[in-house]
Formats: sequence, C-alpha cells, structure tokens
Amino acid sequence: MSLARGVPLVATLKWLALLAVLMALPAVGAPARRALQSGNVTVAYNAEDEAFARTALAAACDALPVLEEALGLTARRQGSHIPVRIEIARRQEDFDQLVGGSTPPWVQGIALPRERRIVLKTLLPSVARTVVAHELTHLLLGEMAREVDVEPPRWLHEGLAKFAAQDFTESDREVLGKAVVEGRLLRFRELPDAFGGNREQVALAYAQSYTLVRYLHELHPGGGIRQYLQNLALTRDPERSLLRTYGQAPEILERGWLAQTKDAYLKHGLPLSAETAILAAMALLAAVALVVQERRRRLLRQRLQEEEKLRRMFGESSLPDGPPAAGCDREPQDPDDNLS
Ligand SMILES: [Zn+2]
Repeated sequence: MSLARGVPLVATLKWLALLAVLMALPAVGAPARRALQSGNVTVAYNAEDEAFARTALAAACDALPVLEEALGLTARRQGSHIPVRIEIARRQEDFDQLVGGSTPPWVQGIALPRERRIVLKTLLPSVARTVVAHELTHLLLGEMAREVDVEPPRWLHEGLAKFAAQDFTESDREVLGKAVVEGRLLRFRELPDAFGGNREQVALAYAQSYTLVRYLHELHPGGGIRQYLQNLALTRDPERSLLRTYGQAPEILERGWLAQTKDAYLKHGLPLSAETAILAAMALLAAVALVVQERRRRLLRQRLQEEEKLRRMFGESSLPDGPPAAGCDREPQDPDDNLS
C-alpha cells in the first residue's frame, strides 16, 4: 500500500520499527514490569516487589514436585508442560485490573486456570509460600480437570491445596480434635455442604479435606488423584469413583479415614492432653518437695539458733542435757545453711 503511494520502503520500515518500540514502552507514569523465570513458571512484578517475586517463584518451585507427584504428572513426564504465569500487584486497583474484575480486599490471591495465571497481592514471605502453593494447586487441578471435562469436588481442591502448601496448622488440629471429642466429624457426603456452612463448619470442612486427601494419597501415591478425576469424568459419581480408584467400598474407605483422623487428633480436643497432665503433675510434685525441704531447713535453723542462744547464756558446759538436735544428725552439712 505504501509503495503504491510512492513512499520509500526504507522510510516505512523505519516508522514501523519506531511504532513497535513506542508500543513496547510502558505508559507514562506506569512502572515497567519485570519478569523472573524458572522452568515454566514466570513471575511478573514491579521493581518494588523484587524480593516478593523471588519468594513467590521459590514457593512455586517448591510446591510443584509435591503437586506433580500427587497428580501423577511426574510419571507421565508432563510435569513441566504447563506454563504458569504469576502476576504480582501491590495495590488493590492493580490486583483487580489483573484479575479482570473487582475483588474483596481480603482476597490475597486468585488462580485463573483457563488463562494459566495466578494473581497475587504482595504479602509477607511467610504467608506468600502458602498462598502461592495453594493457588498453584487450584490452577493445575483445574487444568487437569478440564482435560477430562469434569469439575473437581471442593474437598479435592481445598484438601490438595492444603496438602501441597503444607498448610496444616495447630488451629486445624484443634478444630479436628474438638470435632472428634464432640462427635461432629463430617462424613464424606457431608463435606460439600459444610463448605457453605457457618465458620466452624467451614474450618472443619477444610481440615477434614486435608486429612482425606492425605489419606487417599497414602493409599495410592503417584497419580491416584488423577485416576480419581478420570473415574469421576466417567461415572459422574464421587463415591463410585472412590471404589474404582482405591479398590475399597466407600463405607470402608470412609471408616478408615475417620478412624485415622480420630486417632491422630483426639488429644488436640481434650482440655488437657495425657502428656501435659503428666508434666503438670511432675511440676506440682517438685514444687511440693521444694516447699517441704525449705520448711525443714527453716525449723532446723531456728533450733540451732536457740541452742546457740542457750550456749551463750549458760556456757558450753552448762548446756542442758538432752538428745542432740535431730536435724543436725540428719543434715549436718547443708551448704545453703549459714549457721554461724
Ligand atoms: Zn482454595
């Protein structure tokens, strides 16, 4: 087109090159985005978030092997074929812009599996590792589920996310312990509704999803979760998929899972665990022994002081006859006693 109008080709190319450079430049005032990469994970961030970007990248790289093993990606040598982009935003409006819609201020990270993107707010490093691994799980599980055209159940999403993020806290243990003591552990069929329940039920749903995923993973490591998804795609029945994947009737599997949960967390629900009770009793006994010993020393001191007084009053020879002070014989040289 430009040739037909008589514009020299070289000049046209120069303009196109200049236009490309201008388009590549950030808008005036907007900070330039930077990127870090390791394998198929890329982290995009502004200069001020460099340290956080490195933490996020390290967290993703730490969580990937756990996830790939649980999802059976390692065996199929597919672990690295899924590219993941992590976008970091410091301000709420930047976060919303990257997500593509407004979000509540308490949301710290969102996985967008279709776009293979995770959007994160700048966080404390300790929290960052958990959030990155958590969202990475949602992304990879979502990707895998899309391959077989099935929607993973919520317990699988959240349980696997906690498992991969090693996000099982003292508070989770207490929630489980309390539920064991009060006989409120959720059954398999009750898990989906519990995610929509009150705060206590939601906390229990998360904690039990973690123990369920861990239990299933122990039964069939290295790809059991992937097989479960495939069976779910075939049967569309969560319980039949358990049977097909793990070779156990759902009731038996459920019994084993709940028994393991009870055994492991009962002590966290008791007001005083057995170990704590023994330690407390030992401390009490030691305190009583100290008090008794101190009382004996005080009595002994008093008695010797009285004898000393009598010696001064009557002289050594005129001391009244009587048995020697019992305490002297028994504890003659207590280094703590200054009897002079
Ligand atoms: Zn989640």
